[in-house]
Amino acid sequence: MKFSFDNATEIHFGQGQIAQIAEAIPPGAKVLLTYGGGSIKQNGVYDQVVAALSQHQWGEFSGIEANPQYDTLMAAVAMIRQEGYDYLLAVGGGSVVDGTKFLSVAAPFQGEDPWAILAEGISSQGALPLGCVLTLPATGSESNIAAVVSRGGSKLFFYDRRVRPKFAVLDPSVTLSLSPRQVANGVVDAYVHVMEQYLTYPVHAKVQDRFAEGLLLTLMEEGPKALEQPDDLTVRSNLMWAATMALNGLIGAGVPQDWTTHMIGHELTALYGVDHARSLSIMLPAVMWERREAKRAKLLQYARRVHGITDGAEDARVQGAIEATVAFFRHMGVPTSLSEAEIGPEAVEQVLANLKAHGREAMGEHGDIGLQQCRAILESAL
Ligand code: NAP
Ligand code: FE
Repeated sequence: MKFSFDNATEIHFGQGQIAQIAEAIPPGAKVLLTYGGGSIKQNGVYDQVVAALSQHQWGEFSGIEANPQYDTLMAAVAMIRQEGYDYLLAVGGGSVVDGTKFLSVAAPFQGEDPWAILAEGISSQGALPLGCVLTLPATGSESNIAAVVSRGGSKLFFYDRRVRPKFAVLDPSVTLSLSPRQVANGVVDAYVHVMEQYLTYPVHAKVQDRFAEGLLLTLMEEGPKALEQPDDLTVRSNLMWAATMALNGLIGAGVPQDWTTHMIGHELTALYGVDHARSLSIMLPAVMWERREAKRAKLLQYARRVHGITDGAEDARVQGAIEATVAFFRHMGVPTSLSEAEIGPEAVEQVLANLKAHGREAMGEHGDIGLQQCRAILESAL
């Protein structure tokens, strides 16, 4: 095992913590507040943010949509360049945070088209600092270095250490206004983030494994409660912290990581508009099934420690673990096959063509999932 670990995002967790923005952003900064379609105006978050910014010079950019679109973001880039903002404050879910991370590097980008940051992995000359107020626990974007941006049929990601938010406000009470669909999506996305880093081989990272299993158990215990007792703030608090911890670098330090489910899922969203988390709940069971031999040791550990499956032959325990995962997703009300999402068999060729176009021909924790394996995975997800 070999790794460097840091996570410099300062977390302000708990009710009322939006007020911390006043101190967290440097006093002389010119702040651009970014947000989505307006949920923050309905649940009081916008008013709290505006109150906290009373000592700052600030402006705003709204309309960053789910699966943030390049064209929308480029309108914000023009505004930043024209009006000279030097600090970004994202207020919303993963889409707003990811979109704002792109702004951070796209605004100072000196090449012709900042899309190259995503399409060619070109690094920007600079990066504007950003902070965030998270309103939807799911992606971990509030304290990680990744962002996903869409343009036409391409949904691409980039990593840049400089876009890790300087601070993140996590006030679970602001998540009470989420629809049941978004609550479920968030739980499922976080669960799959853990699985992408945990269900890999070889098996030797004891600390990362135990943290991962703790997060999976928490998400499984609290996820359904958030749907059944939607006003329970303790449940929301535990879910919010679990989603952050699921993808902030901690459980992924020094371990092989898969991400096949996400890469195929991104193509499903780009092609058919499936919610991000639902693209994952459709693909993960198929990935688990098709990779069951390679991942056998970890699947058996997952079966035993997360789902309490200890009896029976190895094959039956592996199958039981996959079925238990599907049952949990069903309990959360998300689809677990392409047909449940009303996507037909034509998806196999379409997704494969997109994966090829995006250069995803060596996926998985050891780069051994090519297009042929993807075909089997997609057929198994039908
Ligand atoms: P989202 O796309 O940010 O938000 C989904 C919807 O929830 C929006 O319509 C939003 O409405 C609404 N919403 C957000 N907070 C709300 C609240 N408190 N009350 C009521 N409605 C609220 O959802 P997400 O799942 O957080 O983000 C998904 C994106 O993140 C995808 O593009 C995915 O690929 C990406 N992702 C990134 C990472 C990463 O590491 N960076 C990891 C996984 C996924 P408004 O627009 O009106 O606010
Ligand atoms: Fe995700």
